[in-house]
Amino acid sequence: MLSERMKRLTPYVPGEQPKIKGLIKLNTNENPYPPCEGVNKVLKDTDPASLRLYPDPLCTELKESISRRYGVRPEQVFVSNGSDELLAFSFYAFFDSGWGPLLFPDITYSFYPVYCRLYNIDYREIPLKEDFSISVDEYLKVSNYSGIIFPNPNAPTGIALGLTSIKYLLDRTNPDRVVIIDEAYVDFGAESAIGLLDSYPNLLIIKTMSKAYSLAGMRIGYSFGNKRLIDAVTTVKDSFNSYPVSRLGQVMAARAFDDYSYHLSTCKRIMETRESMIRGLRKIGWDCLDSKSNFVFARHPSMEGRDVLARLREHKILVRHFTTPRIDRWLRISIGTNEETDMLLQACGELSHD
Ligand SMILES: *Cc1c(COP(=O)(O)O)cnc(C)c1O
Repeated sequence: MLSERMKRLTPYVPGEQPKIKGLIKLNTNENPYPPCEGVNKVLKDTDPASLRLYPDPLCTELKESISRRYGVRPEQVFVSNGSDELLAFSFYAFFDSGWGPLLFPDITYSFYPVYCRLYNIDYREIPLKEDFSISVDEYLKVSNYSGIIFPNPNAPTGIALGLTSIKYLLDRTNPDRVVIIDEAYVDFGAESAIGLLDSYPNLLIIKTMSKAYSLAGMRIGYSFGNKRLIDAVTTVKDSFNSYPVSRLGQVMAARAFDDYSYHLSTCKRIMETRESMIRGLRKIGWDCLDSKSNFVFARHPSMEGRDVLARLREHKILVRHFTTPRIDRWLRISIGTNEETDMLLQACGELSHD
């Protein structure tokens, strides 16, 4: 009854979304602040009768908002139902095992190997350096590959790769292989590769409104690339679901892009809270990586990761722990409000004295 394809799958396990009252939820990198006022207005002003109609399959208005905001041409933009879906379309469109494995870091977003299994794409995990940063040279040592993908900043480490290193990599990769940079967290202090689009037709940048635009619940992802790449993901989309972005989602996302100053101010607040969280954790003896994202990757000086996770849960604080080798003592902690961060630091401080 079940296909061989199906039996091969190992699904991604998302962070929990429990409905516990008073819970401090720092486990899935959601934004602690609400979306901008324009989004609220869409919610209030939408005529329910408009929902009878299918949404615009081309997301024309939204693509125009994105183009205005980022200074790119609409044909360089693609919009999807969350960036996970965009990743799925891209893996289908660009990576073919016949050319060699897809390369990505050994410690990274765990959806990448999931899609590789879904589509039967070979992959090779390239180890991060001892300090958890990406070693560009390790990628360049591989002679045959079907493509390269990594998040910048990387998840769950929060460490960003500079534009100079990205350019160095792109200058030396096969121009016939697609390089995807997953910029889910780039707005929290890292450098976007968007300025490189015109020089590298094999570069695809994937972004999401889930983190920096407070719209995780609406499921909007978007990407930038050369027209040829955008046409390819569009073909995959139209072979799968022509209407992936809902009517409300398209309008809300457009309004969120139009309010640039709100976006900048919430990102700034999150970055400030992040720096004080890092200082606070280091003060009580935790190891904490420098982060350019809306989370920090940190380790208690002596306790096991899973034990810290359980103890924080008793304080009604949820963080993320991965059982992956090399990082099983570490926790990924999302940046919440200042109040939430104070409570987290208080709880961590109590653990440290046990
Ligand atoms: C959260 C995240 C995504 C997925 O975002 P959605 O748009 O919510 O699907 C993609 N890549 C990375 C690295 C992420 O952390």
